[in-house]
Amino acid sequence: MNKKVLIVEDEKSIVDILRFNLTHEGYETLEAYDGPTGLRLALESSPDLILLDLMLPGMDGLQVCRALRESGSSIPVLIITAREEEKDKVLGLELGADDYITKPFSVRELLARVKANIRRVDMVAAPQQRSASEENCIQLGRILLDVDSASIQKDGQTLDLTQREYELIKFLIQHPGKVFSRQELMENVWNYEGFVGDVRGVDVTVRRLREKVEDDPAQPGFIMTRRGLGYYFNP
Ligand code: CA
Repeated sequence: MNKKVLIVEDEKSIVDILRFNLTHEGYETLEAYDGPTGLRLALESSPDLILLDLMLPGMDGLQVCRALRESGSSIPVLIITAREEEKDKVLGLELGADDYITKPFSVRELLARVKANIRRVDMVAAPQQRSASEENCIQLGRILLDVDSASIQKDGQTLDLTQREYELIKFLIQHPGKVFSRQELMENVWNYEGFVGDVRGVDVTVRRLREKVEDDPAQPGFIMTRRGLGYYFNP
């Protein structure tokens, strides 16, 4: 069955481009040109992914995202934003969006992100056999990774992480001390294969993760930056 993508965007020319390219890739599309219609279609038609513009009539994208998550829906949400302001992206991720893409975007990058986010949900729905070498629990100093309960503890306290933040720190902990570039993290944690374009989402997620994990986010002791190369977990 074809995967269904809901496009919530009030600029008709952008909707047309998205519909054309998604249909070409084998997706079924639904369109909404304002926030309230987008929310209603999201709840009624259970799409596999939502492309959500931020500036919308009726209800903005952040309100739609918040209402969707409050209803208990976990449909992947990819925010499309023309705004360069970091706070909107951070707020979007905080409200439960899975990722964002900034206008003007390349169609190739957008399709890669749509595909990766739908695949991630499929992987969670049908978990792969865990390899024998993967440990269920890894304790590194004050940090404990518990794969079975998908949680991270610091000094015995469970941290309140989003799914993406958990996946990122889990990946770093499983390779302690190894430096990963933003591109590598996009491929391994975000499931973006090959070309990924904008990798700043990694920096946003790292910053948010540090606020939750570090004693002093300005002086990280766990999630470290190797200047010019990327990030690593300090074991
Ligand atoms: Ca708009």
